[in-house]
Amino acid sequence: MNTKDLKILYTEEQIQAKIKELADEMNKFYNGEEVVAICVLKGAVIFATDLVRNLNMPLKMEFIRLSSYNGGTTTSGKVNAVDISLPDLNDKNVLIIEDIVDTGLTAKFLLDFIHCNFHTKSTKFCSLLDKKITRKTDVEPDYYCFEVDDKFLIGYGLDYDGYYRNLPYIAYMEKV
Ligand code: 5GP
Repeated sequence: MNTKDLKILYTEEQIQAKIKELADEMNKFYNGEEVVAICVLKGAVIFATDLVRNLNMPLKMEFIRLSSYNGGTTTSGKVNAVDISLPDLNDKNVLIIEDIVDTGLTAKFLLDFIHCNFHTKSTKFCSLLDKKITRKTDVEPDYYCFEVDDKFLIGYGLDYDGYYRNLPYIAYMEKV
């Protein structure tokens, strides 16, 4: 696969502008209160690091790793907790940061996990992308940058078989 076969959906400038907008909204909502941001590896890492640098409250970052993809472009439909070790989140403002909500199974798994294990002060779910059209659960992100169609997207953290996460833009493949 070559980057010349990619169609750019959102440029670096569009992504960065939208992140600033989202961060402004969050800065208003949290109003200086401490936040624990949970970055879902690996896909959300680029988005999360850009987002948190625009947040102005005291903030701790945690990283967890889940997987539902088979390596290519198909989901297994089952979420696996590869590493979900988290500190005590009782009474904390928890902000989950994901790359994309597709079926919503990962988001639901994570939200259920948090709700079952902690009494947080608040729990918000933030996703770079929202593929509403493929949703199989009733989960909706509280914050998202862009709503997208049912295409397999790569770049800005999103991978194809481990590659392309380093692209500064979001693109789709014409043919997979
Ligand atoms: P869900 O559980 O909502 O179906 O899927 C969530 C995970 O599937 C995401 O965190 C992401 O890793 C993967 N995923 C879903 N759609 C895409 C896509 O278009 N491109 C890539 N690279 N990963 C996707």
